[in-house]
Amino acid sequence: MTNRIPMSSPDLTAAERQAVQDVLNTPTLSMGHWILDFEKSFCDLTGAQHAVGVSSGTTGLHLCVRAAGVGAGDLVITTPFSFVASANVMLYENAVPVFVDVNPKTGNIDPYLVASAARDLVQGGKKAEKWLPRKGSGTKRVLKAILPVDVFGQPADLDPIRKVADGFHLKLIEDACEALGAEYKGKLAGTFGDYAVYAFYPNKQITTGEGGVIITNDGEAAEVMRALRNQGRAPGDTWLQHTYLGYNYRLDEMSAALGAVQMGRLNELLNKRNQVANWYTERLSEIPGVEPPVIEPFTTRMSWFVYVVRFDAKIERDALARRLEVRGIPVRPYFLPIHLQPYMVERFGYRQGDFPITENLGRRGLALPFSSVMTEEQVEAVCASVRDELTKA
Ligand SMILES: *Cc1c(COP(=O)(O)O)cnc(C)c1O
Repeated sequence: MTNRIPMSSPDLTAAERQAVQDVLNTPTLSMGHWILDFEKSFCDLTGAQHAVGVSSGTTGLHLCVRAAGVGAGDLVITTPFSFVASANVMLYENAVPVFVDVNPKTGNIDPYLVASAARDLVQGGKKAEKWLPRKGSGTKRVLKAILPVDVFGQPADLDPIRKVADGFHLKLIEDACEALGAEYKGKLAGTFGDYAVYAFYPNKQITTGEGGVIITNDGEAAEVMRALRNQGRAPGDTWLQHTYLGYNYRLDEMSAALGAVQMGRLNELLNKRNQVANWYTERLSEIPGVEPPVIEPFTTRMSWFVYVVRFDAKIERDALARRLEVRGIPVRPYFLPIHLQPYMVERFGYRQGDFPITENLGRRGLALPFSSVMTEEQVEAVCASVRDELTKA
């Protein structure tokens, strides 16, 4: 193979290039009209009352944690099977992520575990203990929020999770960073949380280079988040007045212009990704020992982020991954569990075996090259290599 297939690729046209060029011909490279247009496209898509553009998905999640009033020693129920940012944002505030295990088919947080953890943590005492990490959870232990992640572009089981949040008066922060455009029972991922975040790193469904958007119907929270992203300037503050301890989490105009054009192409991009996923699934379903992604009946639209297959436990995933790399096929294990990342182990004392389903999925999953610009020939080449290496092994 001469042309190495990329792991992921943005899908850009002349319109995106022109939009960025147009920004560069103005003096306004930050906080101009493009960010407003980009934010409006999210209100139009989701029906949310407010959209706040930010510098990344991670910074967006951090602002949600701040808006939810999650502070030092507070608890947030979340998943260990995710990209680390979804749990890191709690650590930024010295809050404690309380992990619960996931559904073995989809890798999404298990709503039954969310419900029992919430009940026990609200009750406190001995019952709460079993959900907490071995160390590092402090003494305050007030459950404030639930943070589910829509993993790989498939919504979590959001109805029961929303009920738990309502029942215990908890904030629901939906990490929809992998799921722009996905639908749960006909309703868009991101519209279930008190706040939700989408992200636009170049491997996501749409890209701004770096960037993110928060959506919410909570006007007060939106105002606080707008202030925090802009160095703590509240409405009415001058450039050098700062009501809050804020951050620079702004999204610049070049990124917003790029994103606005991409948003106009969202359906096209999601349909192309769906086509590529279908090409993969057709071929991989026929290879013994390979499980294509499982789609739940409640997922009425997938918004494919990555295409992750699982191998039978007896297949040596890492050795296979190395052989595929040698053949010019980039692949990536998805995910290395969050609770086993070194700084998490050090802070909270987690061990192998604490979240067996997450660990099992983490050992068997492999993301294959995936983007909306992949051709059927490229998909065929990847699948042929997988088939070939598995028969050799
Ligand atoms: C991509 C992603 C984010 C945000 O990532 P950024 O690179 O900060 O934009 C957050 N959570 C999940 C689950 C993600 O996949």
